[in-house]
Amino acid sequence: MKRCYFCKGFLSNERIRHVHQWGEKIVLFENLDVEKCTQCGEVFLSPETLEMIDRKTDEVLLKGSDFKSMTIPVVAVG
Ligand SMILES: [Zn+2]
Repeated sequence: MKRCYFCKGFLSNERIRHVHQWGEKIVLFENLDVEKCTQCGEVFLSPETLEMIDRKTDEVLLKGSDFKSMTIPVVAVG
């Protein structure tokens, strides 16, 4: 079983919602397969997953209208 890079806790397979920031743009990925540390909660993305995120982000920027979108509140503090 794989261990966490930071705290050596055990990793478990999880599906999460991941917010990917790209400059001023934000893309929300749902049902993303990741490994998550059961101890500190750190999330690890495989190189394949990172590549997929980059590819999808490019696609969203090119033809955003093909994707579901939502409005998010923005709160400026200070
Ligand atoms: Zn950990």
